[in-house]
Amino acid sequence: MEATTTTTEDCCVKVAVHVRPLIGDERAQGCQDCITVVHGKPQVQIGSHSFTFDHVYGSTGSPSTAMFEECIVPLVDGLFQGYNATVLAYGQTGSGKTYTMGTGFKDSYQCGIIPQVMNILFSKIETLKHQSEFQLHVSFIEILKEEVRDLLDSVSVSKSDTANGNMAKVPIPGKPPIQIRESSNGVITLAGSTEVSVNSLKEMAGCLEQGSLSRATGSTNMNNQSSRSHAIFTITLEQMRKLNPIIPGDTSLNESTNEEYLCAKLHLVDLAGSERAKRTGSDGLRFKEGVHINRGLLALGNVISALGDEKKRKEGVHVPYRDSKLTRLLQDSLGGNSRTVMIACISPADINAEETLNTLKYANRAR
Ligand code: ADP
Ligand code: MG
Repeated sequence: MEATTTTTEDCCVKVAVHVRPLIGDERAQGCQDCITVVHGKPQVQIGSHSFTFDHVYGSTGSPSTAMFEECIVPLVDGLFQGYNATVLAYGQTGSGKTYTMGTGFKDSYQCGIIPQVMNILFSKIETLKHQSEFQLHVSFIEILKEEVRDLLDSVSVSKSDTANGNMAKVPIPGKPPIQIRESSNGVITLAGSTEVSVNSLKEMAGCLEQGSLSRATGSTNMNNQSSRSHAIFTITLEQMRKLNPIIPGDTSLNESTNEEYLCAKLHLVDLAGSERAKRTGSDGLRFKEGVHINRGLLALGNVISALGDEKKRKEGVHVPYRDSKLTRLLQDSLGGNSRTVMIACISPADINAEETLNTLKYANRAR
């Protein structure tokens, strides 16, 4: 058996594999389960290949609680300490990325990562509000063909396309395209995208729902659309922390010296289908699309692989963030002090074995 193991204990990138159960369609086709999750080890086997990751969540039982506790909660805790973080769902179309992230508007996506993050964020804020003041912002964008689109821009989904009964996205006339900017201190911002201030769980959930709907209705073929684009839901947490309780009558400290400002963001990314990393068509438009999507996933693979290689990191090797919009946007939240979790989503069905192997190889390179 060909075993691939790389352990990087204190690496800033953690890789988890999420194996979904066989779904109805696959059962109906008589598909067999071709994935073995090794008991008690974060190891997964397919054919003669064996891979070890930081975590593997199998298709039996309910992985979502363990995955959330082990992979996501530390990132949310870090957010309160001022550390940026990124969660990436990678895998072929149909492998469970949207289900895992919860970037959807179906009820079944309620157990996904984003809705759970929202829950613990607000309960943490509730327990900390006596010592800090908090402000939350949300943005939700999509990168399609190397262009950034705003999913919280309600006007852009208001026109009905009568030919097929679907909603069509209409660009607002005169609205400048969204631009990725880097400030002198390395902070990445999105100029021109909607940033919504949210004060409650309900408001934040509303943003997720609105953006998810906007993503899906932008095309005549929902699955097609979402498989081609990267969707990025970003939560920014601003915090004014009171360092010492103010003693009544004590005028020696004014409020400004007594407070600490922290700001950190968490990107939750539902990546384009990994099958798009290959050149699937040779006709003009599709080919270009393939090449562009190739660019985001390829660049991400290169960035994460450079970050995960401790030797390279120590030598100060160039990390190719600028090779795509996706990596450019995530630049200040991948590497450095920030924490990254990649969740490689796979289907257990034998008909998907080839793509599954590609996903595991990509994820393995990320370690
Ligand atoms: P992707 O976003 O990668 O294209 P989806 O998240 O849309 O894939 O999942 C494809 C199908 O599999 C959906 O019908 C979804 O409900 C189902 N599915 C995905 N993950 C799971 C899971 N862990 N448990 C049950 N059903 C799942
Ligand atoms: Mg999806």
